[in-house]
Amino acid sequence: MLRWIISPETRDLRDAPEFTAAVSALRSGQLVAIPTETVYGLGADATNPQACAGIYAAKGRPSFNPLIAHVPSLEEAEKHGRFDARARRLAEAFWPGPLTLVVPRRAESPVCDLATAGLDTIALRVPAARIMRDLSCAAGCPIAAPSANRSGRISATTADDVIEDLGQHIAVVIDTGPTPVGVESTIVALTDDVPRLLRPGGLSRGDIEAILGEPLKRTGADDEAPAAPGMLSSHYAPNARLRLDAQNVRPGEALLAFGLPLPPGAERAVAVESLSETGNLVEAAARLFTALRKLDASGASAICVMPVPCEGLGEAINDRLARASAPRP
Ligand code: AMP
Ligand code: MG
Repeated sequence: MLRWIISPETRDLRDAPEFTAAVSALRSGQLVAIPTETVYGLGADATNPQACAGIYAAKGRPSFNPLIAHVPSLEEAEKHGRFDARARRLAEAFWPGPLTLVVPRRAESPVCDLATAGLDTIALRVPAARIMRDLSCAAGCPIAAPSANRSGRISATTADDVIEDLGQHIAVVIDTGPTPVGVESTIVALTDDVPRLLRPGGLSRGDIEAILGEPLKRTGADDEAPAAPGMLSSHYAPNARLRLDAQNVRPGEALLAFGLPLPPGAERAVAVESLSETGNLVEAAARLFTALRKLDASGASAICVMPVPCEGLGEAINDRLARASAPRP
């Protein structure tokens, strides 16, 4: 692990050899701890599903919360999400800054399904911290970055916190001292008629409402809090029914495989997607949402899922599968 200490006097960050090291780490799918004005982020290339699986693995997250994609400008953000007049007003008023906007995702955005947890919305932010914006520009990708702490622990506001919690998983830790805001970004969803406050944070409700000219509706969607049942419906759910822990493939079913050998009946499955032939849980996490989409598109009435062990990322994979198979209203 490389620790890069940046002092307030440092002028052009991009001249430093450590900057080049951080950019190549991001490009090669490694994790980089990147401070923002709110808290330290555990950053990875948001377009690389293996890299994003690495974020969940390092944090030990028991479920796949969607990740915020950090971009250098509103112009870049508009390549990934659809901004209506309200969203654009908020972005112009508060970016760069501690505000995350959840907007409908553009189909052509290269951000991977794992980063958005399979949703058709995307959380975007232009942070005030210049280092995050410079890295995103230089690496040529949005940077997915949740708070750089192990799941269930408090967010890291110093590089020492990050190293203590996650040091062994990170290629480069960028240290700019304690973060000035110290709480996470405020998250506002502009995905339907009513603007919603998903998480209070570094920018106050009053400031946002003053620009919007209407009140924000409060709904819970907090990081690492147990997901409220209401949130489940917002997750991508396949049209096909899911049958978990399948020991065989029934007629008309598609198969979501994990490991080998495939179960009896696999040869007549409507479609087969393998999460990982070798039983690798990081690879399986990286493929999960895309595999579900593909199997759903096959038109099968049901998807049977081979058992996935509940260790490491298997816990989050099983959580997601259980939600996708839950009865729907
Ligand atoms: P953290 O990355 O730790 O700051 O937490 C990110 C927060 O953003 C979590 O509470 C997520 O549930 C929320 N989030 C990210 N993307 C979305 C989305 N598309 N829709 C709703 N909430 C989101
Ligand atoms: Mg967090």
